[in-house]
Amino acid sequence: MTPDFERELGASRVVRDSSRLERFSVDESGLGRFPPECAVLCESRDEVELVLRLCQEHRIPVTPRGAGSGMTGGALPVRGGVVLSTEKMTRIKEINSDDLFAVVEPGVLTGDLQTAVEAAGLFYPPDPASLAICSLGGNVAENAGGPRAFKYGVTREYVLGLNFSLAGGESMFAGCRTPKGVTGYDVVGALVGSEGTFAVVTEMILKLLPAPPAVATLLAVFPDARIAGQAVSKVIQLGSRPRALELLDRATIEHLRGRTPYRLPENAGALLIVEIDGEPEGVGPAIERAGQACEKSGAVEVVLAQNESERRRLWETRRLANPTLKAACRRKIAEDIVVPRSQIAAMLDRVDQISAETKVACATYGHAGDGNLHINLMLDDEQLTPQVDQAMDSIMRATLDLGGTLAGEHGTGLLKMKYLPWEQSPPLLRLQRKLKKVFDPEDLLNPGKIIPND
Ligand SMILES: Cc1cc2nc3c(=O)[nH]c(=O)nc-3n(C[C@H](O)[C@H](O)[C@H](O)COP(=O)(O)OP(=O)(O)OC[C@H]3O[C@@H](n4cnc5c(N)ncnc54)[C@H](O)[C@@H]3O)c2cc1C
Repeated sequence: MTPDFERELGASRVVRDSSRLERFSVDESGLGRFPPECAVLCESRDEVELVLRLCQEHRIPVTPRGAGSGMTGGALPVRGGVVLSTEKMTRIKEINSDDLFAVVEPGVLTGDLQTAVEAAGLFYPPDPASLAICSLGGNVAENAGGPRAFKYGVTREYVLGLNFSLAGGESMFAGCRTPKGVTGYDVVGALVGSEGTFAVVTEMILKLLPAPPAVATLLAVFPDARIAGQAVSKVIQLGSRPRALELLDRATIEHLRGRTPYRLPENAGALLIVEIDGEPEGVGPAIERAGQACEKSGAVEVVLAQNESERRRLWETRRLANPTLKAACRRKIAEDIVVPRSQIAAMLDRVDQISAETKVACATYGHAGDGNLHINLMLDDEQLTPQVDQAMDSIMRATLDLGGTLAGEHGTGLLKMKYLPWEQSPPLLRLQRKLKKVFDPEDLLNPGKIIPND
């Protein structure tokens, strides 16, 4: 039985009705329904502390939840109990143009922060494709990435300081408000990417940059992914590091045909989007050199956006990839593996083989600059069959064989937990179990995630 949160916070902030609890039972992972006993919509740090204190007193598990857009089941309350939602903690408390940081609550949507900082002539680089629907608390908990990570890095690089509350409700601040700071252990580093298993983040100090004055984008069409992969290396060797280098494979292109503002040529076997930012006088020549490198590598078409609306049109092709693939099957499982950039073409070959062997259709797109590929398993059925398990297992094995890692930006959550021992050694897993115990000795915060039991 969960505590009487209604008495403490008012009935409007507690959800117990099963139909209204439905949305707190699922996320974007497609891993199924895990209904909590209740969801509590906190509005402040005090309320987070209260919920955590009451849950500890009653020994009830608590699953923190941002916007529920996670792809690995991190926000699913697999042991029931309470979902602690931060969706009402949406204040942007400060945008500091002198010292280049923002102070935000965890429920702020990533896109809303970006709009606010851009209005101040500033730039917050992390740009998960889900930025219109995901929260900054979720981004910090997952160490989210996005297309611009190739040049600017992932969320961790923009978290200067965190206010957070432990299970039981004790709160503290770690980090700083300055661009540098190395006192003590890197507790902020431990919390970023901890997927709500160590603490609930209640406020974040995020680093900002001056906005780049100019941006240029091109889309190049290749006969196949191997040639596109070679073009990626050539573009990088030119020296102006692109801020994004995105790849779409043949299967994704076929699903997108007729749906994008850019007309996809018949012979398109792979697409590359290259984006470069910087000073206006440097960006124009740099994107032209990138276009020439694509042509020399074998591109059959190169489209250079001439203005902002054309730039947005080219990106629309990439943005439509996820919803289009999702609509094309009964259930989609999105993998998030990373391989060394030089192994992208080999990985795509392995995916084709695995798909042919298991009869599980796959479509792949992703951040080619980082070697981070979203391999989408497109299922005709809601149920996972042995063939789907075999396809997932083979994709994980192939990733590790090629020198890669099993998750680039979506976290481990529930989806990847089984595979962690394939990548990490028993001593490393034991060390991480001990780390979890330091933060959460009674295993009340988001239990049943990331590290499998011994
Ligand atoms: C269409 C689509 C595209 C996507 N593209 C990208 C992409 O490009 N890059 C990328 O990195 N991800 C991407 N994602 C995945 C997802 O959007 C990110 O993982 C995002 O960071 C999750 O944020 P959220 O607010 O939805 O978190 P949720 O799904 O609510 O939670 C995710 C995890 O964070 C924890 N958590 C949430 N808030 C807190 C808090 N305040 N304190 C402690 N723990 C907390 C939860 O317990 C859970 O473990 C995509 C998802 C979709 C649906």
